[in-house]
Amino acid sequence: MVHGSGRTYLAIPGPSVVPDRVLNAMHRASPNIYEGEIFDIAYSVVADLKRVAMTDQHVAIYIANGHGAWEAAISNMFSRGDKALVGATGRFGHGWAEAVQQMGVEVEMIDFGKAAPVDPNRIAEALAADKAHRIRAVLVTHVDTASSARSDIAAIRAAIDATGHPALLTVDAIATLGCDEMRMDEWGVDVLVGACQKGLMLPPGLGFVWFSDRALEVSQRAGLSTPYWDWRPRGLAEEFYQLFGGTAPTAHLFGLRESLTMILDEEGLPRVWDRHEMLAGAVWAAFDAWSAGANAIGLNMSNPRYRGRSVTAARIGNGGAIALRKWLESEAGVTLGIGLGMAMPDEPAYGDFLRVAHMGHVNAHMLLGVLATMEAGMQALDIPHGAGAIEAAAAAIAAG
Ligand SMILES: *Cc1c(COP(=O)(O)O)cnc(C)c1O
Repeated sequence: MVHGSGRTYLAIPGPSVVPDRVLNAMHRASPNIYEGEIFDIAYSVVADLKRVAMTDQHVAIYIANGHGAWEAAISNMFSRGDKALVGATGRFGHGWAEAVQQMGVEVEMIDFGKAAPVDPNRIAEALAADKAHRIRAVLVTHVDTASSARSDIAAIRAAIDATGHPALLTVDAIATLGCDEMRMDEWGVDVLVGACQKGLMLPPGLGFVWFSDRALEVSQRAGLSTPYWDWRPRGLAEEFYQLFGGTAPTAHLFGLRESLTMILDEEGLPRVWDRHEMLAGAVWAAFDAWSAGANAIGLNMSNPRYRGRSVTAARIGNGGAIALRKWLESEAGVTLGIGLGMAMPDEPAYGDFLRVAHMGHVNAHMLLGVLATMEAGMQALDIPHGAGAIEAAAAAIAAG
């Protein structure tokens, strides 16, 4: 590190920046887990997790990362020999499908590529062709963190309903909850998967699965269900210990209580969504300026409607992305996300992709710092780029 002294900044799409308030809330001795304050905190967290997903139905909390929550969702919906319809829009969709397959469930994959959202019509076609109703659930990713493709969940629900097929709609919202609009009940989502280290602003460690009454009914017959992952004792807990299938994740509960208060009761979900929309707009404006006259630079998602609001995948060709990431980390204390699943390590384009995270505890000065530092890196490394990116980003912030 040459000029990197100073506070470092992690702009990778998970784990995200943990607010000092959340860290401070976690920094305390373990409480009694058999009675007292931790009960009130846990029950209030359960209620607020439903608010953040906009559901009146059920939520199960797991001591796990997102992969654990994926597996929880799978084990509660399927039996061996069932079929899942997966609409993949990037590396995370494929990762989820691989887990489904490894658990003995047949996967029908619709691969939408690395730069497109789910096309609801193709989901409907696949369901219409499944006359025997072997497809138990449709699995999609709200925003695939690798491509930053965002899919229209309400439109997918409408397409499923139009076929009359009983498949559950299951959505990975790990990259969007607490960042971008998600209305589980209104949009007709049956199973929603989340984790605590992105929009919910905690260190990794908790996975969440929200489930509808209809999904609960399906889970009564799920042959893959196992004691730890069964969502019924957690989501319908009568005793406190059932909420966590064992010892409560004490420090994480203290932290989550704080972050949910910040999101729901202080800033408020609509303003959280607006802030992420504004920050995303600033990133897009910067890339639009950089890419003008420099075809090696570009956003991965061309249509703004289908771009994630919490993460942006982009290309800086001729190895520019990898060089820029290295420069930012060693010279300026900023860490950007690597390109994920966009090219194989032995392909020349491998060094051409990066991701800028703008999820969770991020405001304009943090993001403008990242963008201006990227601009400095492009100048230092002689990466050809268009002018005016920082002015454009500032204007996007100013416009709100
Ligand atoms: C981060 C992420 C995951 C994986 O979560 P882990 O905690 O790393 O297991 C899955 N899906 C999406 C959309 C994500 O952003």
